[in-house]
Amino acid sequence: MTTSEPILSIRDLVVSYGAIKALHGISMDVYEGEIVCVIGANGAGKSTLLNSVMGAVPVEKGEILFEGKPLVRRSYKVVASGICLVPEGRKIFGPLTVSENLMVGAFLRKDKERIQEDLEWVYTLFPRLKERKDQPGATLSGGEQQMLSIARSLMSSPRVLLLDEPSLGLAPILIKEIFDELKLINERGVTIVLVEQNARQALMLSHRGYVMQTGRVIIQGPSAELLSDPRVKMAYLGKLKA
Ligand code: ATP
Repeated sequence: MTTSEPILSIRDLVVSYGAIKALHGISMDVYEGEIVCVIGANGAGKSTLLNSVMGAVPVEKGEILFEGKPLVRRSYKVVASGICLVPEGRKIFGPLTVSENLMVGAFLRKDKERIQEDLEWVYTLFPRLKERKDQPGATLSGGEQQMLSIARSLMSSPRVLLLDEPSLGLAPILIKEIFDELKLINERGVTIVLVEQNARQALMLSHRGYVMQTGRVIIQGPSAELLSDPRVKMAYLGKLKA
């Protein structure tokens, strides 16, 4: 489901860390209702891309448009405008309970009734979090912490959810569970940008994909086409032949 105007548009983005150029003029469009994946090896610049959308790293050149307007890249304003990041490494609040972590996700919202509805929705999506709602976040397993990190972001009621390697360190069965839940989240109308090293599963879940290498987009297209692209197969899917 796409409309003609992208909901999120990244244009010629350049980001450097001192002398190291991490993004060399990246451009990317994301349309409402899509799941877009970004794959690439370690150090390709995937996290930098998401962090620059969130206003967490300074942009040297280029622009980021949300619904056609320049995004004010201060993290709380980005969240308030409808974009939320599920960061690499989960970054949940260990001493806070599951339900307290979730309420932190909703801290910018004033619509109390909708907050309650969304809380019920994330507990339906992740029943294990409901069972553990009074338990400190630090006592959850890695997979449950990843669920909590996603659920906490959903509590900000995002229109666009950015995820930085949600499969990292998880067993295959949990990865499948998390990816199934991402599909349900998308079906509820949330646009998703998924950064992943787990290229095959990310391409199978998403509508379109971008392949990054050393700060540049080298291949892009519908995910089904990327899955059968010999260059993608050879470099990212562990197959030597097309
Ligand atoms: P990974 O899959 O390993 O997380 P990535 O594709 O997300 O990698 P980034 O983390 O965005 O890549 O890193 C892109 C480049 O920028 C790398 O060369 C990295 O060493 C460099 N880099 C990232 N963060 C910093 C930082 N805070 N200071 C200096 N260099 C950085």
